[in-house]
Amino acid sequence: MNIEKLYETLAGRPKFRLKQAKEAIFKDLIDDWAKATVLPLSLRQELNKECPLKINNEFFVSKAKDSTKALIRLEDGLKIESVLLRHNDNRNTVCVSSQVGCPLKCSFCATGKMGFKRNLEYFEIVEQVIFFARLLKKENKRVSNIVFMGMGEPFLNYDNVLRAIKIINAEDGLNIGARHISISTIGIIEGIKKLAKENLQINLAISLHAPNDKLRERIMPINKKYPIERVLQAVDDYMAKTKRKVMFEYLLIDNVNDTLECALELAKLMKKPLYFLNLISYNPTGVFTASPFKKIKEFKNILEKSGVNVAQRYRFGQDIDAACGQLAGKN
Ligand code: SAH
Repeated sequence: MNIEKLYETLAGRPKFRLKQAKEAIFKDLIDDWAKATVLPLSLRQELNKECPLKINNEFFVSKAKDSTKALIRLEDGLKIESVLLRHNDNRNTVCVSSQVGCPLKCSFCATGKMGFKRNLEYFEIVEQVIFFARLLKKENKRVSNIVFMGMGEPFLNYDNVLRAIKIINAEDGLNIGARHISISTIGIIEGIKKLAKENLQINLAISLHAPNDKLRERIMPINKKYPIERVLQAVDDYMAKTKRKVMFEYLLIDNVNDTLECALELAKLMKKPLYFLNLISYNPTGVFTASPFKKIKEFKNILEKSGVNVAQRYRFGQDIDAACGQLAGKN
């Protein structure tokens, strides 16, 4: 589904046609132009030819039924994965990919293992949300939140990510509130700086995963280019400008970054009123072992006692390889 072609096809027509077409794809969530009966038959036929709405996919539902993974096939045959997370409180979060593969090679991440194929176009990002919006509509539900935590590094595809967010957020688009949209980054400083200037109410999350450069560099090679101190400086500038909280993600790997010393070192870095820390258990990708539950609890206790805003994130969809870091476009 390529909505760029929609704009091209409707370019020479009266403006209200585009309005009607957008309503059909973003609100009625049609999957076939034949259903857009407000449009003349000839236009419906032309649109079905120029801009078909079908999304090529396979999908997998987890045993607990709280997550659904879609493997979407793009026009050039490459595949990406997106996940729908159904929370107990009725939130339905879509975890979207921003790239096919990823160039960053974090040692714990399955996407990193597959290498980098290409950036996604803005409409290929929007398409992932539309896919789940259609699915949920059948149950009278809607997508409430978006997280850029699928495949890829969003700030290495900044323009397409921002353009997609504008459509996802627009009233005449998918109309999902900016405060319900989050970008997760490894800490690409240029991206953090640019985002600070956008004047958007979206959320920023930083993948930290280690409390010092030596360890971070070992598990995340990009730390050489973006060391912790510089990332945190960019975050502080971002917060001063936007007055928004920033979330830090820290995944716990057994005997790698879950020791007492790590907890104490991390506490020192994280003790700021507008920082909040999310502890994630490492999802198996065949490289490390996850920290046992007891250790995660102890780790969290230390941080809490030191006055850090900290929470532990629920795991989703491990059985369908749909959890954080497990997306690799395989089928
Ligand atoms: N490139 C971005 C966004 C994609 S990854 C980023 O790094 O933030 C989304 C989150 O999943 C990141 O915090 C990432 O570090 C984490 N992640 C990757 N592999 C994981 C794994 N095996 N278990 C748990 N979290 C993982």
